[in-house]
Amino acid sequence: MSKTIKKIGVLTSGGDAPGMNAAIRAVVRTCAYHKIECVGIYRGYQGMIEGDFKEMGARSVNNIINKGGTVLKSARSKEFQTKEGREKANQHLVAAGIDALVVIGGDGSFTGAEIFNAEFGLPVMGIPGTIDNDIFGTSHTLGYDTALNTVVEVIDKIRDTASSHNRLFFVEVMGRDAGHLALNSGIGAGAEEILIPEENLGLERLLESLQKSKASGKSSSIVVIAEGDKIGKNVFELKDYVDENLPEYDVRVSVLGHMQRGGAPSCFDRVLASRFGVKAVESLLEGKSNFMVGLLNDKIALTPLEQAIKGNTEIDRELLRVSEIMST
Ligand code: ATP
Repeated sequence: MSKTIKKIGVLTSGGDAPGMNAAIRAVVRTCAYHKIECVGIYRGYQGMIEGDFKEMGARSVNNIINKGGTVLKSARSKEFQTKEGREKANQHLVAAGIDALVVIGGDGSFTGAEIFNAEFGLPVMGIPGTIDNDIFGTSHTLGYDTALNTVVEVIDKIRDTASSHNRLFFVEVMGRDAGHLALNSGIGAGAEEILIPEENLGLERLLESLQKSKASGKSSSIVVIAEGDKIGKNVFELKDYVDENLPEYDVRVSVLGHMQRGGAPSCFDRVLASRFGVKAVESLLEGKSNFMVGLLNDKIALTPLEQAIKGNTEIDRELLRVSEIMST
């Protein structure tokens, strides 16, 4: 392996996701394994601009694999989007002797990393961390599996009260632009309908489907709705619409919100984070730069950052069909 890289900086940026701590731990421990130094950068790019750094040895990441959130904190930095901000960040990195960077975050964070690499030549490697699973080049982002399990667990509880009172529940889950979380958790939780940003079910079809399910003997129903669903009405407007058009239903709304981002990461996310961290550091040591590590066909693979940023993740059409059949 190349010996040119002696000190790697690691940061978490954008929205936090379960598994980020496990990824930090993996980066720190892989550095220790290869006998190079590791520096934690606090509050994402904002901490880079302010020189908010801390040396991290193998023992500094004890007992964090099981923790949600990120011990390095995360931030969205407007200043990093300016040349002056990035120059300040570079000065701090040079002063600290950091000669490569691992960025754990979403596509915005990767865009920042790419621009920074183009301007200052610092090798960068991305690790995808977001519960939305909307990053090209990986079948799973860190935090997605945990969020799925959280949502399913909550919907199971909502179903108890829905069936006790013969109610219809609209459950809003995160996903402004991507319906992966809604579609998979909806199938896993046995939802009657799933509304996602990629597909326009239409109000008429929603009503038809609810009428059909009532006629088929279902006394309670769960409809999972992604924040960005295409119908164009928010979840409360949808409730009003159904109240007006199907008065026989007793409709309730539950917006799950930020709890979907929290909690201890699932075993899947911990293992994935560990594999991502090892691959990110070892790829930098091999002289690679401007890639994102990801999971493709169950293998850890590299995708150029540019493709990871620009590529679209497609919704699984087969899952849509499965969901339709399951609501029979
Ligand atoms: P999430 O998926 O949770 O939103 P993200 O990484 O996409 O995560 P963003 O807020 O889009 O989150 O980006 C995180 C940070 O990356 C920004 O606050 C900013 O500091 C940096 N960044 C994003 N876009 C750019 C850009 N065009 N130039 C420089 N820096 C950028």
